[in-house]
Amino acid sequence: MAEYPILVFGILSAGGVFMGANTSSHPDELEKQIKHSEAKIVITDTLSFPKIKNIAQQLQVLIVDTDTPPEGTKSSNILFECNEADVAFPKISEDDLCALPFSSGTTGLSKGVMITHGNLIANLCSTLFDLDNAKPGENVTLGLMPFFHIYGFTGICCSALRTKGKVVTLARFELCQFLDVLIKHEVTFAPIVPPIVLALVKSPVVDSYDLSKLKLQGIMSAAAPLAPDLRRSFEEKFPQVMIQEAYGLTEHSCITLSHCAPRHPRGIAKKGSVGFILPNLEVKFVDPATGKSLHRNSLGELCVRSKCVTKGYYKNPKATNDTIDEHGWLHTGDVGYIDDDGDIFIVERIKELIKYKGFQVPPAELEAVLISHPEIRDAAVVPIPNEEAGEIPAACVILTPGSILTKDEVLKFVASKVASYKKIRMVEFVDTIPKSSAGKILRRNVKDDLL
Ligand code: ATP
Repeated sequence: MAEYPILVFGILSAGGVFMGANTSSHPDELEKQIKHSEAKIVITDTLSFPKIKNIAQQLQVLIVDTDTPPEGTKSSNILFECNEADVAFPKISEDDLCALPFSSGTTGLSKGVMITHGNLIANLCSTLFDLDNAKPGENVTLGLMPFFHIYGFTGICCSALRTKGKVVTLARFELCQFLDVLIKHEVTFAPIVPPIVLALVKSPVVDSYDLSKLKLQGIMSAAAPLAPDLRRSFEEKFPQVMIQEAYGLTEHSCITLSHCAPRHPRGIAKKGSVGFILPNLEVKFVDPATGKSLHRNSLGELCVRSKCVTKGYYKNPKATNDTIDEHGWLHTGDVGYIDDDGDIFIVERIKELIKYKGFQVPPAELEAVLISHPEIRDAAVVPIPNEEAGEIPAACVILTPGSILTKDEVLKFVASKVASYKKIRMVEFVDTIPKSSAGKILRRNVKDDLL
């Protein structure tokens, strides 16, 4: 919603700390998060207010979308009533906190990540170029990724403001509405996530649109792995749209690696990689067991050091020390490698590697193989405990309507494309695959459905 950035930048200018909350959270989760953050003021809308009703008395609650707010709350209009001349803006230093986004909680409990004004500015300086040539309103960015997530906050809200662009907001993804908005508002840039790329490639609805009406010049795909075949199919279907892949994490204030680096001699990174190192960053790959730096082309944990690295997790020094070492390196928990040309490849999250008979099997690679099948609409791979092997890779698969593909054919298809230790050993056909609002497969939930 349009009020969101106005309120956020108001909070930041007033020296406050902004914590975006996921509107789909359960009331208990919200209560826990609000109490943990020690927030004093909650700004919400009439639809979400009931979720925080239980703790409303302990807070100042402002409601954005009504002039007649529920008892005990006020309308957020009071924020717009003050006279600018009466406002004393505090002096803010680089080290002051500005935001407390919560990590997605994909691999465990979600944690409050302390982002400073300096972190945010450093990230914007590393990702945005040619600002002097930016013309107000020339770029129209789609604001679909939630602003409570670092992708929406830094990557859309703050970036668009910095480039003097316009943002067209869309509350949730629905394919027809998405395409209608792109066309109607002449959107030029859409930061999205791989499940949306998948829908654009695989859904027949897209074929009923006159795609020549699109003004879209580029999409960014980030937050989760984009399968190389899926990227190729997107490029075939939307030849005029450039795909910029990017890799980032909350602990690094957003983008960390990008496919498109105008100041790099090659400009565009190799397909299949997640991109180059952004300016002003250092990266290395280490052996997760020993912490020793590895040579190029060796698989290891990606570590990053820069001014974008968070101060740490709020009220959680143990998690902070486990993630950021004494030399300032952020251990990302992602495994990959850098090749001789400086292109970086991410293979999998360390925590999500499936351990089959001592081998490590990356589920993202198997998902990429599965969705390359024309009759498979989407897929998720998870580890299932197994007495003999430790864990076996199991797949949940959504077939395209009318498909008569059998489980055995799915197993054989994957087996024909991967090393034998990576073979999928179990398949279930499902109707949906649980994903987070940041487009990540919620493997814990997929696993619960399978067991
Ligand atoms: P938690 O730490 O609570 O489990 P999270 O790590 O999912 O949450 P985010 O900050 O939203 O929280 O996600 C960052 C992670 O997303 C990265 O560490 C990486 O695993 C994944 N990721 C982001 N971009 C990409 C990409 N382009 N390709 C592959 N993975 C990506």
